[in-house]
Amino acid sequence: MSRISDLAAHCIRCGFCLESCPTFLVSGKETESPRGRIYLIRNAEEGNLSWTEDVRPHLDACLGCRACQTACPSGVEYGQLLELAREQIETRKSDRPKSALLGLMSNPSLLRLSLHVPGKRVPGLVSRVLSGQKPEADLPRPQPASGWAPLDESLLPPIASEVYLLNGCAMQVLFPRVHEATNRLLRRVGIAVRSTGNTCCGALHGHNGHLAEGAKMAKKLAAEIEPGIPLVTDSAGCGSFLKEEASRPVFDIAEFLSHNGLGNLLAGSAGLERTITYHDACHLVHGQGIRSFPRELLQAIPGVKYVELPEADMCCGSAGIYNITQPSMARQLLERKWQNVESTGAEVVASGNPGCHAWIEQASREHGAAVEVLHTVELLESSFSGLPQKTMHARTA
Ligand code: SF4
Ligand code: SF4
Repeated sequence: MSRISDLAAHCIRCGFCLESCPTFLVSGKETESPRGRIYLIRNAEEGNLSWTEDVRPHLDACLGCRACQTACPSGVEYGQLLELAREQIETRKSDRPKSALLGLMSNPSLLRLSLHVPGKRVPGLVSRVLSGQKPEADLPRPQPASGWAPLDESLLPPIASEVYLLNGCAMQVLFPRVHEATNRLLRRVGIAVRSTGNTCCGALHGHNGHLAEGAKMAKKLAAEIEPGIPLVTDSAGCGSFLKEEASRPVFDIAEFLSHNGLGNLLAGSAGLERTITYHDACHLVHGQGIRSFPRELLQAIPGVKYVELPEADMCCGSAGIYNITQPSMARQLLERKWQNVESTGAEVVASGNPGCHAWIEQASREHGAAVEVLHTVELLESSFSGLPQKTMHARTA
């Protein structure tokens, strides 16, 4: 039995996953549900359906959010099944525009160049080539500087150990302030930080069915850094992929800081008088099973009023490059997410992934920019150093 058939055979078609699937909830269609997609994959693998004609549109429309995997009582490893099925499709007929987009997004130099593309939103022509639809996502923009004063080394604990922080591709270009907050928090708990270079971890490729390319990139990254030193990431998608690929301990930053005493340290920090809420990035909650660490840390900030977000673990529609390749569905999910955020009355919404961060922040701008969107670590560091000077980063032209 092939690996795909083996994985698909675990599905007993009970339908317990349906109500967890964002694309099923929005469309109401079985073919846009996990059960329907598994049925299509199984039939393509058995030669009854065409991978490229019959199956591709429904797998392209899948967010890869893995909410179905969390909900499934039968233990179907949907994430892995999806990636293998996407590989089958890609091998038969490559989606060249999507491959080019993956190449751009995973290359920091090209990504930096793309910041000079004029306009506010992804160009209409590019969107039509990639999706056949009008664009919904704004062009990316790097975060402004934090304005935080340098740490006073005399007040910090001695260095006890060291980790690598994944520099990444989009993270280093678009979210330098998140990395800054991560570095500061790690130092506060006595950890020295080494940065990886410019090599992308391969997550975007892997999640989109370019499995060989993704694995090659992960291997290159591993070869560039010293063995045995743990790797920490502040990007949920990268962490989820590297936990499957890397042969060293890999930690999400919230998980790592929780294990290393940040909760106790926060109790003695200045704190923040803010109402906050938290959005679960799919690759953190469904990909890595991390739900409580970020919540516990955020609630440990003195003065914070924490409000739980309705449907917190439902995908916001960003999903890697999904809001560029499937803009219409992504927009519907963003509006649903935003209504939930507004219902909490929160002044700040936190999350642990760059895609969610940029996409939810776009919704905030579109709805008057009254709600700040921050990475969990930015909010945690703000408890010691105050909120960053200017948190909104948007193209205005
Ligand atoms: S919950 Fe699991 S077993 Fe049931 S239909 Fe969904 S994927 Fe199949
Ligand atoms: S990964 Fe997400 S969008 Fe895809 S089938 Fe599962 S729940 Fe639905």
